[in-house]
Amino acid sequence: MVLPHEPEFEQALEELSTSLQPFLEANPQYKKALEIVQVPERIVNFRVVWEDDNGVPQVNRGFRVQYNSALGPYKGGLRLHPSVNLSILKFLGFEQTFKNALTGLSMGGGKGGADFDPKGKSDSEIRRFCVAFMTELSRHIGSDTDVPAGDIGTGAREIGYLFGAYKKLKNEFTGMLTGKGLTWGGSFIRPEATGYGLIYYVEHMIAKACPEYSLDKPTTLVAISGSGNVSQYTALKVIELGATVLTLSDSKGSLVAEKGYTKEFIHKIGELKLKGGSLETLANEPGYTYHAGVRPWTLVPTVHIALPGATQNEVSGEEAEALVKAGVRIVAEGSNMGCTTEAIEIFEASRRSGPGGVWYAPGKASNCGGVAVSGLEMAQNSQRLAWTTKEVDNKLKAIMAECYGICLSAGTKWSGEELTDGVLPSLLAGANVAGFIKVADAMKAQGDWW
Ligand code: NDP
Repeated sequence: MVLPHEPEFEQALEELSTSLQPFLEANPQYKKALEIVQVPERIVNFRVVWEDDNGVPQVNRGFRVQYNSALGPYKGGLRLHPSVNLSILKFLGFEQTFKNALTGLSMGGGKGGADFDPKGKSDSEIRRFCVAFMTELSRHIGSDTDVPAGDIGTGAREIGYLFGAYKKLKNEFTGMLTGKGLTWGGSFIRPEATGYGLIYYVEHMIAKACPEYSLDKPTTLVAISGSGNVSQYTALKVIELGATVLTLSDSKGSLVAEKGYTKEFIHKIGELKLKGGSLETLANEPGYTYHAGVRPWTLVPTVHIALPGATQNEVSGEEAEALVKAGVRIVAEGSNMGCTTEAIEIFEASRRSGPGGVWYAPGKASNCGGVAVSGLEMAQNSQRLAWTTKEVDNKLKAIMAECYGICLSAGTKWSGEELTDGVLPSLLAGANVAGFIKVADAMKAQGDWW
């Protein structure tokens, strides 16, 4: 059910519904499931009053959308950003429900956050906000009920403050948040998981579609947007494998590395971002060119792999055209709904044109590594054990391989297209249909539709 003024949620619902058409025509009984699954099970909407450094009360709007619990406890991040509203959180919670299904782990879907802007706030202000936010949120979450994590604006520092507040309120040390510190219940590889998982997924795409652009070659050119958690670890994995990262960006502009980013430079950006800094302060670094107010997609003449990693709708139709002209072969989202509807149409049309076209992977498949390792963190917390880096990384690789395989096979079966002349299956259709069937079948077994 769409309420007025929910453009992001409408976009996500439209994308899923369109992808499901061939499946629903063959299986009309599932139309009822689509009608029901689009309504969140519960939305909690609350006031957060916190004290700034001058002793003045400040107020924000807090939310938790508990979308679907058919496959496990609600699971999904908390976004702290001034743009946060119910439309954005409903779209994120809806996407999360199907993404979590694609990981094969026992997790339902949810999302939350507040229209609080951590930028420009002192550590003490952020701590007081987190305590105030958790004072209400703690009534609605728990390790078997709802397990939030990080997202835009919510990193390790915020998770720490939120966890500490919950523990004091409930007198319980439990795994009701993921992304925790390594010495207090966190998992190895969780900070890296979304970026690394994205690259593990992309490696399967490259092997099938364009092995000439494998990531062990410095001649393979990669454009990444964003410079936060997801984009930093995406870039580090690409550099580790041997390909060339040409771009990163933030909310103010893009930084192009003429000869490619180095690992050391990504670490420097990591430190800058922890302090709330902007890429524009790196504008005079030798070998790097800063472009204010522009996203990366039109800035480099040749790109083979494009990986949006900042926020929703960050690739427009025009930018998609520019990427196609630049020779892009793989577009895979690290961000959620990174591409606009127009951009997706351009990439999908290119795929349908046959060999040499663009192959697009939606975030609910390609960025599921983050929530997958959150699921592994929950499993370790339940066992009161910590697995090694290698164990977690191997499990992440296996989950991404499985997710890719599911999307490929459902895309082959349910895209409603004749896949002749070397046309690749739609991973968009595959991810949507496979995620939907899993959630819908569990809901049916639990009596949520019939
Ligand atoms: P961070 O807060 O660490 O980084 C966000 C990045 O995106 C920053 O570079 C930020 O710029 C930029 N950004 C934020 N809003 C905008 C905007 N409106 N326009 C342009 N740039 C913007 O977040 P994450 O890296 O964690 O998340 C990035 C994306 O990945 C989001 O879509 C998130 O939902 C998705 N995601 C994250 C997962 C995770 O594990 N963290 C898991 C799966 C998906 P600036 O520094 O200037 O603010």
